[in-house]
Amino acid sequence: MKRIAILGSTGSIGTQALEVIAAHPCDFSLEVLTANENADLLIKQALQFKPNSVVIGDEKKYISVKEVLWNEGIKVFAGKQALNQIVESTEIDTVLTAVVGAAGLEPTLNAIKSKKNIALANKETLVVAGALITETARKNGVNIYPVDSEHSAIFQCLSGEWHNPIEKIYLTASGGPFRGKMREDIISVTPQQALKHPNWGMGQKITIDSATMMNKGLEVIEAHWLFNLNPKQIEVIIHPQSIIHSIVQFEDGSMKAQMGLPDMKLPIQYALSYPKRLHSDFLRFDFLNYPKLTFELPDKETFRALHLAYVALEKEGNIPCAMNAANEVAVSLFLEGRISFLEITEVVEECMSNTLHIPTPTLDELIQTDIESREKAISIIQR
Ligand code: NDP
Ligand code: MG
Repeated sequence: MKRIAILGSTGSIGTQALEVIAAHPCDFSLEVLTANENADLLIKQALQFKPNSVVIGDEKKYISVKEVLWNEGIKVFAGKQALNQIVESTEIDTVLTAVVGAAGLEPTLNAIKSKKNIALANKETLVVAGALITETARKNGVNIYPVDSEHSAIFQCLSGEWHNPIEKIYLTASGGPFRGKMREDIISVTPQQALKHPNWGMGQKITIDSATMMNKGLEVIEAHWLFNLNPKQIEVIIHPQSIIHSIVQFEDGSMKAQMGLPDMKLPIQYALSYPKRLHSDFLRFDFLNYPKLTFELPDKETFRALHLAYVALEKEGNIPCAMNAANEVAVSLFLEGRISFLEITEVVEECMSNTLHIPTPTLDELIQTDIESREKAISIIQR
């Protein structure tokens, strides 16, 4: 029985993780659930899964959550500090980090310091503080199991290959809703259009990141830290059908790919059950439904965010952190209708080039970079 904490249980990854756990009651027990503000869903989940504790980020909702769950013997905590501390509980083996954005950094770091294994969905954490996170994990003997489908694919392909150096990896990308478009075609796209992902149903932030291709950029940086690869070893290839989830190429030229229908429950389950594969009822792939699997090069001029992520990765230090923070602000302003689609990437680029480079930042310096980059993004938009 693995004892699981889900940070961000009310989100897209969190709710799918709960489906996985519900399907395998003998393999997993649920100890902690957390949400930011969706108290109603958190309560519903807690009544169904009976965890030891829940955390609601929004302190104003503490009383209403506590009123319902206290009688059930479920401990209720509220606020950012509680989220950071709950992962230290001795009753947890694995923490699934499924909160969105840099908000995941501190709880993930605390979980690692408390020697919990990590099932990592929250890619922004590795983008913001990859050096710190991987070094702390190494020191504490903690494993980080990728949940992101591409990184799970690479991880699955590497099984039994640990002694064989990687020549390169290919991260596949669907290309998002605007694949094949030129800059002039996407000047005035609306949030509704950008939120229509062709293959995956996900939270709003990652869906917009997929449309700008910043998501793939974040994933390039995530792959760098997870698999210890240099930027030239990480290539992105557009594969609109999202059947091949990524590919590893070894030194003899052999390529291994992991494939299947796009369903996040599979990589979530694998990250939680590793090294075992558990039975699942997920839909099986049918070759006749996909007579053609196609591949294209990414268009880094139209989707400049992908180029910016490679720039950030080359510079390292606090630059990926600045990029991520500016992107989080720009995406939410786009969703509010306050900036245009192409301005998301423009704001990110300007923030990156106005960030003072710190080559080996401390946690405090990263937190400061994050704050300053958010302020810069807002001031660029207001001028
Ligand atoms: P969602 O927006 O659907 O869910 C986010 C979750 O985090 C919710 O539970 C939300 O609570 C909580 N949350 C939001 N902000 C905060 C905060 N400031 N502090 C604490 N908790 C917070 O996101 P997704 O599930 O789509 O994505 C989660 C992570 O997984 C992201 O990093 C994403 O990049 C990554 N990922 C997602 C994939 C997907 O298919 N969705 C695929 C691969 C990676 P509330 O509901 O109360 O707001
Ligand atoms: Mg992905």
